[in-house]
Amino acid sequence: MKRIPVAGPSITAREIDYVTQAVTSAWYGDAGMFHGRFEAAFANHCGRRHAIALPSCTSALHLALMALDIEPGDEVIVPDATWIASVAPVHYVGATPVFADIDRDSWCLSPEAFEAAITPRTKAAIVVDLYGSMPDWDRLNAIAAANGVALIEDAAEAIGSRWRDRPAGAFGVMSAFSFHGSKTLTTGEGGMLVLDDEKLLERVQRLRDHGRSPGDTMFFNDEVGWKYKMSSMQAALGLAQLERVDELVDGKRRIFSWYREALSDWNGGKLNPDVDGLYNSYWMSTVVLDSEIGVRKEKLIPLMRQEGIDVRPFFYPLSQLPAFRDTPEAAIARDRNTVAAAVTPCGINLPSALSLTRDDIERVASALKRLTL
Ligand SMILES: *Cc1c(COP(=O)(O)O)cnc(C)c1O
Repeated sequence: MKRIPVAGPSITAREIDYVTQAVTSAWYGDAGMFHGRFEAAFANHCGRRHAIALPSCTSALHLALMALDIEPGDEVIVPDATWIASVAPVHYVGATPVFADIDRDSWCLSPEAFEAAITPRTKAAIVVDLYGSMPDWDRLNAIAAANGVALIEDAAEAIGSRWRDRPAGAFGVMSAFSFHGSKTLTTGEGGMLVLDDEKLLERVQRLRDHGRSPGDTMFFNDEVGWKYKMSSMQAALGLAQLERVDELVDGKRRIFSWYREALSDWNGGKLNPDVDGLYNSYWMSTVVLDSEIGVRKEKLIPLMRQEGIDVRPFFYPLSQLPAFRDTPEAAIARDRNTVAAAVTPCGINLPSALSLTRDDIERVASALKRLTL
């Protein structure tokens, strides 16, 4: 029986051709030939002025926080339900993460919870487009502007999604993407930071290149920085993927529509958000089981794996992870974030790899139905 993978890319002759060109020719004076093309095309895709190719989304978020001068004593609001990479950079700069609740319909940061979590120490919020869904960006922007809070968009899971016709990557002062092998558009490992502001751009460029001013050829460092760069082979792979981005997003949306059909006669739970104004790129087709069924993810996941079907748990609330559990912020969040506590225990990400066929999806759907009877 074929194992059904949970995530994975679509690679064609175009990707192989570009990477071959990079490994053959992107050296000496041409070392940056693919970076420039990838960054320009990516900025254009997001409707941003600038894009900076990086080794990961984690490094992009770290640079964003540093460029905004977020320091110890500052608070940064993050949604409680997300991958730890959304919040780890808050820790890197020594600031305090504040875990706010998610919205029941979008699974993303709740505007009410965001507003309630703001204090005089709040400097920024990292807003996550979870599993391809997007929050109510209009309300988040209005609250942020009224309170002087900078929004950073974590769009790692949302390339191709749109909110009221604006693409993921166009929101907040800066947006961060991941090209990890599991993501819709991949470079194996990689990331991108997109932004409009020239001063922030200059700061990010200096910080990511060992404190050198952009264009420095004298190896004369102004300060100690970080080394956050992408290789030319990755940039070539990313450019090829970006030229196929509509096809990649269509593939994710097709997988979701196959699930929706195959599960149309199933009453056991609910699929990804379909809120007003959202065009969802469905990075991961996901189900949240009805609580009456009483099946938690810890029980269902091993049963699915026994059937040769790889699934993942809906992220645990950050405030429940051993990494944060004993902090005062996590204790407050566990009392306050009732939606994250209700949604996450019964959620699983279904296989959403771009290589999957309709037969694979039907096999997953029938196993899910059988195991949740
Ligand atoms: C994948 C992911 C990241 C981290 O991306 P890396 O490229 O692995 O650093 C950050 N945030 C979210 C929401 C993600 O899904």
